[in-house]
Amino acid sequence: MALMTCTECGKEISEKCKACLNCGEPNEVYRKNENKRQTKLLFIRLLLLAVTFIGIMFFINSGGFEWVGNALGNLMTNILFEAFGIS
Ligand SMILES: [Zn+2]
Repeated sequence: MALMTCTECGKEISEKCKACLNCGEPNEVYRKNENKRQTKLLFIRLLLLAVTFIGIMFFINSGGFEWVGNALGNLMTNILFEAFGIS
């Protein structure tokens, strides 16, 4: 547990504290770490979504959803092409 000095009152507080326990000044280090964590989580979610989507596309293209018909596959391909320029 790393300690840092509060920018407002000068008391030592933990980096993991959301705000200074003494004066209530918001902890910048905590806020920055929290932002980083949120960005990382968002990135992981987007990556998982992309991987899932690409997986479904490959499944459709390999005939996995033949019973649904090619219409859905073509529609998805068109959407992909329109949105990302992937053909
Ligand atoms: Zn303080």
